[in-house]
Amino acid sequence: MPANHPLFRPPAEAGSLILQVDEGCPHNRCTFCGMYKGVRYVRRALDVVAVLIDAECRLAPGTRRVFLADGDVMSRSYEELAQILTHLHRRLPALSRVNVYANGSSILAKPDAELRALRERGLHTLYMGLESGDEAILDQTQKGETAEQMVEAAVRAQAAGLHMSVMVLLGLGGRHRTCEHALNSARALNRMQPRLLSFLRVIPIAGTRFHSDIEAGTMAQLSEFEVVEELRAIVAGLDLARTVFRANHSSNIVPLEARLPRDKQNLLDALDALLESGTLDESGPGPVPMWL
Ligand code: SF4
Repeated sequence: MPANHPLFRPPAEAGSLILQVDEGCPHNRCTFCGMYKGVRYVRRALDVVAVLIDAECRLAPGTRRVFLADGDVMSRSYEELAQILTHLHRRLPALSRVNVYANGSSILAKPDAELRALRERGLHTLYMGLESGDEAILDQTQKGETAEQMVEAAVRAQAAGLHMSVMVLLGLGGRHRTCEHALNSARALNRMQPRLLSFLRVIPIAGTRFHSDIEAGTMAQLSEFEVVEELRAIVAGLDLARTVFRANHSSNIVPLEARLPRDKQNLLDALDALLESGTLDESGPGPVPMWL
């Protein structure tokens, strides 16, 4: 049952067995996202998922980590997720963690007892795209959720023992809202206290509204220099107690990895050195990643 479109997974899931239990994203309206454009959302029936699990697990019976694709698998009901987790454990005796993409509203739709029960059944990390902590940017980009909702979702999920891996998109507000993006994203992250935090640079993908807004001049894309300034402003505002920080996706200008709060000053020093290096493009976005 191969995917008929590129299969997306977080960079940290490179070593996991990827099982495509759904196709596409049930929301699929974010103006910057080209991941599932043109892909009709399909929530595969549980008997079809069971056949997929049986076939894939037979090939890799020693699997310890599974990532369930595609977008927002957490939107499935508690009962369906519980059945999938139970079936996976039956087929994979060494399985230690099952991870998924999760929108805030899908987490909030589940009572605390269900979140705890999913954790007990092996659900481990929820990858949530905050994208921005700025409500105006989330509204403009049709994220379909507020920062307030996502903060509450992250807090509730982590209180239930799940790990939150939260993603922020640098440059999402363009030049017009870079200050608000930095300030409000740091505030939202401080309230969430995610265990994992990733920064990606937003890349305008042809066919998305974000791209056409830039082409039309209604959105001023950040220069390479301004993206680093924005990241520096967010890092300066972070007050995190125990978070793994990553900005090492191929969209990033330089790969960075750190543990917060321990490495905060080193991170700020590295970003300052980059800003002072004279190597960053101050008039344009800099080189486009190889994968585009
Ligand atoms: S960013 Fe996430 S929620 Fe938005 S359309 Fe893309 S996959 Fe769906």
